[in-house]
Amino acid sequence: MVDSHAHLFFDGIYQDLDNILKSAKQSGVNYILTVSTDSKTIPLNISIAENHDNVCCSVGVHPHHFIDGYDLEELIILSKKTKVVAVGEIGLDYHYQDQTPKSDQIHLFRAMLSIATQCNLPYIIHSRECFDDIFCILSEYKIPSSVFHCYTDSVENAKKILDLGHFISFSGVITFKKSIDLLDVVRYVPDDRFLIETDCPYLAPVPHRGKPNEPAFVNLVAECIAEVRKTSVAHISKITTNNFFNLFQKAKFLWKEKYDAV
Ligand SMILES: [Zn+2]
Ligand SMILES: [Zn+2]
Repeated sequence: MVDSHAHLFFDGIYQDLDNILKSAKQSGVNYILTVSTDSKTIPLNISIAENHDNVCCSVGVHPHHFIDGYDLEELIILSKKTKVVAVGEIGLDYHYQDQTPKSDQIHLFRAMLSIATQCNLPYIIHSRECFDDIFCILSEYKIPSSVFHCYTDSVENAKKILDLGHFISFSGVITFKKSIDLLDVVRYVPDDRFLIETDCPYLAPVPHRGKPNEPAFVNLVAECIAEVRKTSVAHISKITTNNFFNLFQKAKFLWKEKYDAV
C-alpha cells in the first residue's frame, strides 16, 4: 500500500520518524510520498527521502506560504534530484484569503506549474473553495497529470478533473460522519484514477479522529473505500499502488525492481 501524501518533516512526526516509519511498514504501507509545503523546509523534506529507501518526496510551495518567499531557479534545481518525484503541494486556497490574497496565490500557482512543465513532473494540487479558478488555469496547460489531493468536492467536479486526465486522492475525511455526499465520489471514480493518502499529521481517520495522523492509518482509508465500493482491501491496495506508480513515473523508475516484485 502507498501513502501518497504525508508531511514527514512536520513537528510531531519528524521527532518520532523512526517509530512512525516502522509502524507504517508493519501495517503494510510500503511506500510514502512526503509532500513539501514551503521553501524553508524543502531541504529537510528531501533529506528525509534521501535517508529512507521507501520514501520519496515533492518540491513546491503551498498557497499559504506565498508570504515566506521562494527562489524559482533554486526550486527547479531541487526538483531534478533523484528522490523528487512531483511538484507539490501547490494550488489555491480561498478559505484563508486574508493570509494570501487571490492574486498572489494565482501568481504562485502559475510559477509552480512552470516548474512542473520545465521538469516534466506530475503535480499535487491543493484546492479549497476555488475549484473554478483552478480548473480554468489547469485547462490552459498541456503539462503532465496531477492529483487533486484530499478530495472533498462534488461528483460533478470530479468528472471535470477526470475528463482533463487528472487523478483524485481520498484521505481520512471519507471516514468522517459528515462525509455522506463524498462517498458518492468514492463510488463514482474509476478503478484506475484514484489514490489514497493520510495528509498526516492532519485529518486522522476514524477511530483516531482528533489525534495525530500517521502513514500507517492509510489502511483505514483503504478499508472505508473497500466497504463503499463493495470490494476487498487487497484490491484497493493493489489498484491504488498501481495508480500511484502510473502517475509518479519517477517513483516507478526509482523502485522498479521492488515494484515489479509486488
Ligand atoms: Zn493540502
Ligand atoms: Zn498536505
